Amino acid sequence: MQARIEALPRETVDRIAAGEVVERPASVLKELLENSLDAGATRITLELAGGGIELLRVSDDGHGIDREELALAVRRHCTSKIRELRDIEGVGTFGFRGEALAALASVSILEILSRREKGESAWSLEVRDGKPGDTVPAARERGTTVSVRDLFGRVPVRRKFLKTESGEKRQVLRVWEQYLLAHPEVTFALVDEGVEKARYTATVDLKQRVGDLLGAELSRQMVDISGEEEGHRIEGLCSLPLTSRGNRNHQFIFLGRRPIQDDRVSHAIRQAYRDVLPPGRFPSCLLFLEVEPGLVDVNVHPTKREVRFRESSRIHSLVSHAIGRAISGGALGRRLADRPEMQLGGQRAESGAKPQSNIDFKPGPGPRPGMVREYQSGSREPLDIREAPAETEANREAEFWQLDRTFILTRIGEGLVIVDQHNAHERILYDRALANLDGRAPESQSLLFPHSLEISPSEMEAWRELDDFLETLGYRISEFGENTLAVEAIPAGLRRWDGGESLRELLADSLAEKGGRSERRDRALATYACKAAVKAGQILRAEEMRRLIAELFETRSPYTCPHGRPIIIRIGRDELEKRFHRIVPDREDA
Ligand code: ADP
Ligand code: MG
Repeated sequence: MQARIEALPRETVDRIAAGEVVERPASVLKELLENSLDAGATRITLELAGGGIELLRVSDDGHGIDREELALAVRRHCTSKIRELRDIEGVGTFGFRGEALAALASVSILEILSRREKGESAWSLEVRDGKPGDTVPAARERGTTVSVRDLFGRVPVRRKFLKTESGEKRQVLRVWEQYLLAHPEVTFALVDEGVEKARYTATVDLKQRVGDLLGAELSRQMVDISGEEEGHRIEGLCSLPLTSRGNRNHQFIFLGRRPIQDDRVSHAIRQAYRDVLPPGRFPSCLLFLEVEPGLVDVNVHPTKREVRFRESSRIHSLVSHAIGRAISGGALGRRLADRPEMQLGGQRAESGAKPQSNIDFKPGPGPRPGMVREYQSGSREPLDIREAPAETEANREAEFWQLDRTFILTRIGEGLVIVDQHNAHERILYDRALANLDGRAPESQSLLFPHSLEISPSEMEAWRELDDFLETLGYRISEFGENTLAVEAIPAGLRRWDGGESLRELLADSLAEKGGRSERRDRALATYACKAAVKAGQILRAEEMRRLIAELFETRSPYTCPHGRPIIIRIGRDELEKRFHRIVPDREDA
């Protein structure tokens, strides 16, 4: 028999609709927080019981709701926020459909308690099974408290889809964190099972909030990003590649300060870190996007979690470029230069002093202990070692150790940094060679006596092809008889004359390589950097290590060598604390 078509009971319609907006405690929290923020709250408290299933309560000090309007607030499509339909289009009215409270009221026991201004009484209204009771007088300060109890208690099908209490709580806290980060200007408190677990004081400084919530160590490792492109804007923070995580949990994307998920933006983040983080490691970032209303559709998802950017490739390039600029070596070098531990004290090279290589491994009377140089941020001048007037405190603090003649250990911030000396020097030489190719004058060190180098006829051919290239690197070589070269000067960055070994390799390599001229030059560049770089097994003096590291942070990409191998490993204080079990229990298990 054919089923008759019947209108569904009102209650059922509401519950179906509710399912769209309210999936779980985390989505309840999202709706309540947005209402509180819309009401201009400066303090918001979240109370939980049973992972938010038993009770989820949000209290704020916002403008409150009038007595007469309490009943309206929980009716479907009643909202104070859209007066005209065209508002729905705009980002300014991101998702105001007057549905949330009504939806919540149909799947829980909902109570609203609110007070407008001082002097008036507070009023309370309870809705059970979608049926509002009477509005009764109550007591509280200005603001609103919305309590949602026994979520889906009378909708077993939906209740079944909830995870365990702790699973739901995790998701609640994730939403909580997103809003905390989006609104540092609001004080947030968390009460779980009747106990205050955390309080985050309002601040105008986003970094401060990041520090309070995700740890001071991480916040110190974050740099500002900003960018703008035709109706699209980005601001925010992203982590330097020194700090990375095994998952994407610390990536927060906001549109108009509301958390969203977007694959293109996530991809742009990955892309920006592609060359500086090894696979499986993820950066932390907070991206605040602002897009002109016509350029984004916010109504593609009922809870506004996803949006559709009209110009998604513009968003992509805006994000990846803004991050790229912020984390590139130059900016980082300047940042490190600001730190006392990296400020190497002492006097600057006098003007007119003979420019020396940035990493000066020249033999001869080496710098004595206590000799330091100042790390001049942004300065393109080669660095020089001069005698320091006095050992400064900052200088004493910056210590360098060599482990196994291969790794340099030092401190940056509150963490331990381990640098691979070969990879680091390779990156420096490579970047410098590139700068030379871009027109920077090469720095050479003349050899006291020219060294002659016997080579084969084919190597001679290779040399003829590579000669100007070698000159850009800082070599000065001339032909000296049939199969002999005279080497008069070598790049300043090389440690010493190695008997022609690296030069020979360079020529051989360029011969072996197939491909066109420019490809062979690229290859030669990498080979040069690799062969010329200080090797594992070579002893470095403290000053040499210090220079190497300061120089490294002047390069474009201090984290990976030209072959993509990592240069730096950083073990933060929080990691050390974790390993020594000094860490305080985290919120959830506390
Ligand atoms: P919407 O937020 O889309 O308007 P809701 O169902 O979430 O719909 O809320 C309905 C109305 O209730 C809001 O328009 C607002 O006027 C009022 N309201 C809800 N929560 C608060 C609050 N915390 N403070 C002040 N007013 C509130
Ligand atoms: Mg709302």
